Amino acid sequence: MRPVDEAGRWAGPRFCPRPGCRMFAPHGSGATVQGMSSSSHPHSHPHPHPHSHRGSGLSDEARAVHAAAIPIDLHADTTKLMSRGYDFYQRHDPPWPVRSFFGHVDLPRMREGNHRAQFFGMWTFPKPERGCTEDVHRQIDALEATIARGDSAMVLCRSADDVRTAKERGQVAALLGIEGGQALGRGTSEQVIERLTTFARRGVRYLGLLHFSQNALGYPQQGWGRDHEKGLTPIGCEVVDACRRSGVLVDLAHINHRGFFEVVERRPGPLFVTHTGVLGVQRHWRNIDDDQIHAVAESGGVVGVIFAPRYLGQDGIEGVVAHLSYLVRVAGEDHVGIGSDWDGAVRPPKGLESPAKLPHLTEALLRAGFSATTVHKILGENVLRVLSSAPPMQFV
Ligand SMILES: [Zn+2]
Repeated sequence: MRPVDEAGRWAGPRFCPRPGCRMFAPHGSGATVQGMSSSSHPHSHPHPHPHSHRGSGLSDEARAVHAAAIPIDLHADTTKLMSRGYDFYQRHDPPWPVRSFFGHVDLPRMREGNHRAQFFGMWTFPKPERGCTEDVHRQIDALEATIARGDSAMVLCRSADDVRTAKERGQVAALLGIEGGQALGRGTSEQVIERLTTFARRGVRYLGLLHFSQNALGYPQQGWGRDHEKGLTPIGCEVVDACRRSGVLVDLAHINHRGFFEVVERRPGPLFVTHTGVLGVQRHWRNIDDDQIHAVAESGGVVGVIFAPRYLGQDGIEGVVAHLSYLVRVAGEDHVGIGSDWDGAVRPPKGLESPAKLPHLTEALLRAGFSATTVHKILGENVLRVLSSAPPMQFV
């Protein structure tokens, strides 16, 4: 449905006209918030404006359970957009077909959906590979600049304590991950590991070894240079060991099967597969099998379910719930999380188009029979446990 009325006038979201405010105006207030007292203004309230769930169809139980959660999404690509001018503080409603791919994560919709913490997966285009390191630094620069002009609305976090403190203060937590080892460039293992260390100093908490191309560390499940006979390179082995030393968690999304288990054997700590589906529900090259799920669980890590119908096998929140449910059965409820891939050129499911819709996932999980405790684990507590068990190295 297009957000215009029959006369062609804009009938979609309107923005608060208060000077400097980028919040979405409350329901029923028209284009203005005139008449709101300062105490009722969204900026003075740690939660989204008080009417954000009016008419939403959410049960009281779902609202209460969701409000008490600390949702942490393991993967969204928003920093790439920030480095190209994306305004994180503006509520976005991009036209079709753009909205199928980008413009999903912003502060107004994170607040509306009580989405407390976002891992930004910083991807790079590897052709040519030279420049990928600088590209990731530019994305971190863009995030830092965004945080700096946000009047403490968002804060860069490294640890579970940081995230919990952010929630207490009404702030949104930003966390950093890298998608694709091409970000570490080529060269000697010392040079490659030095780049990893530099990223870790800037706050990077996970390294996704592969994306859609072969790089200095290994081979992708799909993409340029794919070779299922090959696993980790010698430098890849050294980087995995360096991750353990520096408190950088290893993300095994996109890596080929052989490389996956060569990482597992090196025991770099709790493993992430930040955004994936499972083969037990849908046959797709992007999804992981039960052996891989068990390996992540045995490491103490978390598998994050991607919000992408093309990998999940069905549209709608039900598709996400099906993969989460399967993971709970196979891995146990302590090793399951969410990894949307919002802003990653992947069309989200109907009903989970942005962080504003996250309460509906809580509702669907409760209806599927999960307890409030399990829902909290899936939404974020499991990832918080991993962050606590793998603290970042204290750089001086
Ligand atoms: Zn990806």
